[in-house]
Amino acid sequence: MGISEKFTLKDKVALVTGASYGIGYAIASGFADMGAKIVFCDIKQEFVDKGLAAYSADGIDAKGYVCDVTDEAAVQEMVKKIEAEVGVIDILVNNAGIIKRIPMCDMTAEEFRQVIDVDLNAPFIVSKAVIPSMIKKGAGKIINICSMMSELGRETVSAYAAAKGGLKMLTRNICSEYGEYNIQCNGIGPGYIATPQTAPLREKQPDGSRHPFDQFIISKTPAARWGNPEDLQGPAAFLASEASDFVNGHILYVDGGILAYI
Ligand code: NDP
Repeated sequence: MGISEKFTLKDKVALVTGASYGIGYAIASGFADMGAKIVFCDIKQEFVDKGLAAYSADGIDAKGYVCDVTDEAAVQEMVKKIEAEVGVIDILVNNAGIIKRIPMCDMTAEEFRQVIDVDLNAPFIVSKAVIPSMIKKGAGKIINICSMMSELGRETVSAYAAAKGGLKMLTRNICSEYGEYNIQCNGIGPGYIATPQTAPLREKQPDGSRHPFDQFIISKTPAARWGNPEDLQGPAAFLASEASDFVNGHILYVDGGILAYI
């Protein structure tokens, strides 16, 4: 097989969590462009409906499910439905995530737990649900959406950094435990990407000047810009394709160079 033939996702079933919009949507759309069948989930019917409308407008025949990825029973049920209605999941992207920007000592234990639940426990729950069928099939790709906070600490993101650092180690562990079954588990660490999650950091100041964080990002990123969700498409497609079959347990930072610079 020539290398160009390995860069296809033709007829692969890809589940992307939290993919009604933002980074998940862009990754799923990129997979569809490479021939994959797209399945996504979101926590609210309203967002699934919006996602379905957006995929359809882009000419993508996606299937959407309402599922809270922190609920193990609901995830098991969704995965069974996907296997019956679409097929065995070849590619899983654990993308759903939340962030709470609160100084650590002002954060309640419940708020801390909520972040850990969505950003770390859920990738465990969803991966656990899809791996048995991947083992039977003899192949599988899991991509965990990590963060630069998998490497760094920063004010107000203690829970997020703890969860994303944990997700990096879960990625390595899945690689170690299931690599022998031809399952590759890698992470993508996006830099600062312009999505609804980061919109508050780009809000103009009352005097019309840039938000200080926005200024910081522009000045510290060698690419001198925020990333777009589409910047994640190529790296995700590579990690989902056979072209990356010997890449396992790694985190690919897609950050315009900022991690190398700060
Ligand atoms: P968004 O908030 O825009 O999208 C995340 C999606 O996950 C939303 O649709 C959200 O739904 C959904 N979601 C949240 N909780 C659950 C749940 N329990 N079950 C199912 N779905 C859920 O985030 P981004 O697109 O910005 O980020 C995507 C991923 O990338 C996240 O893991 C994030 O941490 C990571 N990331 C983002 C960066 C950025 O700069 N934007 C940088 C580094 C990492 P709802 O809107 O209803 O909450």
